[in-house]
Amino acid sequence: MATSHPHTHVHVNTPCSPQDVDAFLNEAETLVARQGQRMTKIRRKVLRLLLESPEPAKAYDLLANLDGEGSAKPPTIYRALDFLQDTGLAHKIESLNAYVACGHTRHRHSAVFLICEKCHGAEELHAVATNEALKAETEAAGFHMNRAVVEVRGICRDCAA
Ligand SMILES: [Zn+2]
Ligand SMILES: [Zn+2]
Ligand SMILES: [Zn+2]
Repeated sequence: MATSHPHTHVHVNTPCSPQDVDAFLNEAETLVARQGQRMTKIRRKVLRLLLESPEPAKAYDLLANLDGEGSAKPPTIYRALDFLQDTGLAHKIESLNAYVACGHTRHRHSAVFLICEKCHGAEELHAVATNEALKAETEAAGFHMNRAVVEVRGICRDCAA
């Protein structure tokens, strides 16, 4: 996780991928303010760590990388992660028990993750049609969908090359 890597990594594979960590953090701040919320120091720091992590980040890795930020204890991290999920800035990948930042903040989407079984990377697909299809099919079943996270396992572009 982030400890062994220089802090330069950003996901650049989709049209919505954050190209620059600081620019995205500022964008996130605006988005949060528009929702009537506040981007506290700890929330911003956790989002930064997610953006800089080359792999989906586990809560305890985030905790270890907070550099003594505030009184960082597990509940603090989980609250920050909950907040980031509620505001659409992060998703949890259940099968990995890990978190990733979301760049797809400008359109409605269901999170579709492509999880590589070789390098353990996870990339969020720019999946706009999937959301509509899921909505239509769940509604046809008489079910009202709030959100969905789809976890697709396989081999990524880099590992297949
Ligand atoms: Zn997303
Ligand atoms: Zn997108
Ligand atoms: Zn891979």
